[in-house]
Amino acid sequence: MNKYLSLIFILLLVTACNSESSGPKRAGLGAGNPFQNNMEIRWGSGALSSPLNLGTAQSFLDDFSPSDFDSSGRHPFEQMAKEWDDSYSSIDFLVEDNSSDIANPGYSNLTQYRDGTFGIYKSFNWFPQVSSSALAITQFFGIRKVDGSGTEYLELTHADIIFNYRDWTFSLDPNNLNDYDLMTVVLHEMGHFLGLPHESNWSALAVMQPYLSTFESHRSPYSSDVNALSDLYQDVGSAPLIFEKTALGNTNRVEEEVSGFFELRADGECRHYIDGELIHIHHKNLK
Ligand SMILES: [Zn+2]
Repeated sequence: MNKYLSLIFILLLVTACNSESSGPKRAGLGAGNPFQNNMEIRWGSGALSSPLNLGTAQSFLDDFSPSDFDSSGRHPFEQMAKEWDDSYSSIDFLVEDNSSDIANPGYSNLTQYRDGTFGIYKSFNWFPQVSSSALAITQFFGIRKVDGSGTEYLELTHADIIFNYRDWTFSLDPNNLNDYDLMTVVLHEMGHFLGLPHESNWSALAVMQPYLSTFESHRSPYSSDVNALSDLYQDVGSAPLIFEKTALGNTNRVEEEVSGFFELRADGECRHYIDGELIHIHHKNLK
C-alpha cells in the first residue's frame, strides 16, 4: 500500500429514533458523510473492472423461503443488487448470482471484518462502540486520493454490511408494520456500500433518505438515488486523471492509519469518531 496514503474506516448507521414495541416505528438511517466538504466516496475503476462480490451470509439464506426468490432464482439481496446494477447502465456494480454465499463470521470486533470477503452479515452481539439503536451499519475502508482537478476523494478498498439482530427484527413482508423491511434496509446499505451518502433534500423521495419507518418499503432506487449514483461514477474509468497523495498534499507524510465511525443515536445526536476520539457532536435539528 502506498506509504503516502491514509487508511480510513467509517460506519454508516441505520439508527432508530423510536423503540416502542408496538405500532409503526421510525428510525434515522444515520449521518451521510463524515468528511468536510462532503468528500466523495467511491470504488475505483480497477475494483469495478468486474462486479464486486458482496456475499450473503448463510444465516440470511436460511431465512428465505422459495416464494422470496424471483423468477430468475435471485434471492432478496440479489434482487436488490440487481436494482442498483440496473439503475446505472455503464457499470455492473455487484455480482447477482449465488456464487458468493458465505458463512456468518460472528466477529466480536469490527476491525475483524476487514478480511478478504465483502459480506452482508448478522450480528447477534453487536459492538460496544456502536449504538444499540442502530439497525444496521455499513463499515468501509478506503484510501484518500485526489483527482486530476485536485479534489480529494476516498477510494474504497473494503466494505461490509452488518445487521443488528441483537436489538431489532426484520421482515420480508412489507405489510408487517412491527419489523423493518429487510429489503429496504439492505437496498439503503448497498447504496452506502457503493459510496452513496444520504439524500440531503429531506423532501425528495429517495432510498438514501436518512429516515425509515417500519411501515415504509422502498425496494427500487428513485430518480434522486440514480442521479447521485451517476454523479459519483460518471468519470470513473475515463481519463487516467487520478493520482495519489495525502489529503494535505504533503508528500513527506508517512503512512497514517486512521480509523473512525460516526453514529446517529436515538437522542438525535450524531457523533463522529476518528481513532476512537470524539471529534464532533451535532444535533439533527441543527444540520
Ligand atoms: Zn444510511
